[in-house]
Amino acid sequence: MNLKYDMEADWILLTTCNFRCAYCFVPLPALETKLTTYGTNAQWTEGFAATGKTWLLHISGGEPSIYPGFVDLCQRLSEHHYLSINSNLSHRCMDTFAETINPERVHFINAAVHYDERPKQKTLDAFISRVQTLRMHGFHVLVSLVMTPVLVRDFPELSKYFESHGLSLIPKVMRERFEGKIYPGAYSAEQRSLIHEYLAKARKNYATVTSVMGETATIDMFTDDRLLDSPRIYRGKLCGSGHNFVRIEPNGAVIRCGSGVQLGNILLKNASFLDAPKPCDSFYCPYFCEKYTSPPFVPAQETKRDVGDFFLTLKTWRDSQRQPPDR
Ligand code: SF4
Ligand code: SF4
Repeated sequence: MNLKYDMEADWILLTTCNFRCAYCFVPLPALETKLTTYGTNAQWTEGFAATGKTWLLHISGGEPSIYPGFVDLCQRLSEHHYLSINSNLSHRCMDTFAETINPERVHFINAAVHYDERPKQKTLDAFISRVQTLRMHGFHVLVSLVMTPVLVRDFPELSKYFESHGLSLIPKVMRERFEGKIYPGAYSAEQRSLIHEYLAKARKNYATVTSVMGETATIDMFTDDRLLDSPRIYRGKLCGSGHNFVRIEPNGAVIRCGSGVQLGNILLKNASFLDAPKPCDSFYCPYFCEKYTSPPFVPAQETKRDVGDFFLTLKTWRDSQRQPPDR
């Protein structure tokens, strides 16, 4: 796969979701909020065209597939841009997506199982069948399972079930408060060791898929081991955020990751970007931080102050904005 893009966006198309995962980053009122569309599909397409850039649009939410006209939006955008999708695959439009969207324009789909939200066997089987349909049409589908303590324990059994349908699971490290504890710090030594083991297996199982993806998935769950180590502090490191990477809000606002610095609006066709990378002064999703910092993060000797800063920044960031969901 030959991706040629100028800019990447973490595009929070909506915050509304049909699931209520206990570990979700999105606050409950935002998940429950009435779905709002801020622009027509044609306006979004024109807005991105007006930037003069070729984009890699990571479409997330909330649940993007419940967005009205989602497949049509993807169809329009994928004519000139590349997409990657974060979805729970619960909406039937993903079958139409599989049949109509050119897989050459979609870098990957993170198909998140969210097991606790699928209490009935038939909803799990519907998910599996949708992944198989997408695979059959040539999409790179990464099937992920968020590692709650119970699922760390049950991962081998669930993996067997998925493997019996020709699929492999990727364990995804939790980075959130869950049942009164903050993860990943709250994982026990045994749980960490199991997650390392599951990740090693996932890397092997997905080697054929990742070898043809052209570049590493931005949401690179295969290296989630690194999240099990001490918090990763990016502050002060040179980063392309605002220059060749931005966050886009549901209303089209373009933001320099978690900093709150606005760089215009896609729908208003007035987005303008930084001329060059600039030192990090914020906190954001580590997958994007990792990709856009230069030189890449080296697990260094973080000081106690760094770790304190991390939690302070995390709190400020959470308090100040609509957070992205777990990707
Ligand atoms: S983690 Fe994803 S699927 Fe679950 S509630 Fe949040 S946005 Fe919805
Ligand atoms: S928070 Fe992350 S994405 Fe934002 S500037 Fe810092 S390293 Fe870059």
